[in-house]
Amino acid sequence: MRPRFLSKYILKCPRCGFETEASPYVMRCPRCGELLDALLIADRVRLNWGGLRGRGVWRYRELLPEPGNTVTMGEGATPLIRLRGHGNAYVKFEGANPTGSFKDRGMTVGVSLALSIGVKGVIVASTGNTAASAAAYAARAGLECLVVLPKGGVAKGKLGQAMLHGAKIAEVPGTFDNALEYVLEAVLSDGRVNNVNYYPLNSINPWRLEGQKTIAYEIVEEIGVPDYVFVPVGNGGNIYAIWKGFRELVDFGVIDRVPKMIGVQASGAAPMVRYWRGLGEARIDNPRTVASAIRIGRPINWFRAYRAVKYSGGEFIEVSDDEILMAQRMLGREGIGVEPASAASLAGYLKALGEGMVDAGDKVVLIATGHALKDPDTLLMNSNVNMVSVSSLDELRSLIVAQEPGI
Ligand SMILES: *Cc1c(COP(=O)(O)O)cnc(C)c1O
Ligand SMILES: [Zn+2]
Repeated sequence: MRPRFLSKYILKCPRCGFETEASPYVMRCPRCGELLDALLIADRVRLNWGGLRGRGVWRYRELLPEPGNTVTMGEGATPLIRLRGHGNAYVKFEGANPTGSFKDRGMTVGVSLALSIGVKGVIVASTGNTAASAAAYAARAGLECLVVLPKGGVAKGKLGQAMLHGAKIAEVPGTFDNALEYVLEAVLSDGRVNNVNYYPLNSINPWRLEGQKTIAYEIVEEIGVPDYVFVPVGNGGNIYAIWKGFRELVDFGVIDRVPKMIGVQASGAAPMVRYWRGLGEARIDNPRTVASAIRIGRPINWFRAYRAVKYSGGEFIEVSDDEILMAQRMLGREGIGVEPASAASLAGYLKALGEGMVDAGDKVVLIATGHALKDPDTLLMNSNVNMVSVSSLDELRSLIVAQEPGI
C-alpha cells in the first residue's frame, strides 16, 4: 500500500507509540485515535545541506514526500524582513506566497500527493486561506475542489480567491469548528480516508504539514537558529510543522538546538492558552476575534501544537483584538501588509518584551502568515486615518508646500 514516494517515512503515534508504514490515507492511530506523525527514517534520507539546489519548498525535496507529479507555483522562498526599532526581530512574510498565505507550502505537497494517488478532487474546511490555496493548487492540477466554509465568517479576499479558482463552495452554519467536523465526518472512518473521490487536505493531514515545515529550513539557511519563533495559532498545525522542521535539522546535525516556539492566540479564541494554563480542555465555544484565520475554538492539532511549545521550552500567550489591530498598523507603517491573524505574532512579541519574557537582544522571528489584501474590510476599518479630499489643484498644491522641507 505504501507509495514509493513515501518510502522514507513511517507513521508514528506520539501518544502510544504505535507505528505503521507510511500511507496517504491513514491519519489517526488505530489504537488510541491520536493524530499520527509522519517521521523521516534517517538512513533513507541523503541530506546534503550545503549543496541544496532550487528555491522554495522543493529546494528541500530530500526531506519531503516526492510524488511523481509536482504541482508547484513557486511557493516558499519568502522574504525575512528585519524590523526597524523593535529589538532584534525579523518578519517571515508568508503573504508573498502565490495565493498570499503559508497554506501554499502545504498545498504544493498535499495536492501533488492527491494527484499522484489518482483522486478526483480535494476537500477542505476552511476559515478562508486553506480554501483559497486548495482551490488554486487543485485548479493548477486539474482536480476538483470542494471547500466547506462557515457562513458569513470568511474574509472577502479569501472567498473571492476560492471562487476565482473554481472551487465548489459549501457554506455551513456556525463556526469553522462545525465546518471541519462536517468534513472529517464525511471523509474519515476510524481515522482513515474512506472516500476515494475527495482527498482531505486539512492540517490533520501530515503530508500537507511536511510542506509547511520548510519555513524552519528557510529561517535556518538565512539567519541560523533564532531564540524565539512567534506563530499565530488557530488549528495548531503550523506551529507544529515549523517546530518539526527545526527538530529534523537537529536530528540531521545541521543545527544544535531548536528555538522556543511561542504560540499566539486572540483572547476571544484562545483554547490553547486555556489548556496551557491548566484551566481545562483545549476547547472553547463561540470563538470571537477580528482575526478570522485564527477564529477557532476546537483546534484539531491541539496535541501537536502543545508538544511543539512544551518540548521547545516555549509558551502560549494571548493578545487582544486591539493589540492585533495595532500590530497590523505598525507593520503597515514599516511597509509590511499582513492580515489580522498574522499581526498576532508582532502583538505577542511586544507583549512578551513588555513582560520581560524575551529580551530586546534576543533573535526573534515573527511568522506573518497571510497578506493584508486577504481581509479588505478589516484593512479599511483599521487604516482609514490619513485621507483628505481635494477638490482643486490649489488644494493639492497646498498639501505639497505644507510639508516640511525634505531632502
Ligand atoms: C491558517 C492560518 C493560521 C493558523 O494556522 P494553524 O495551522 O491553523 O494554527 C494563521 N494565520 C493565517 C493567516 C492562516 O491562514
Ligand atoms: Zn496511539
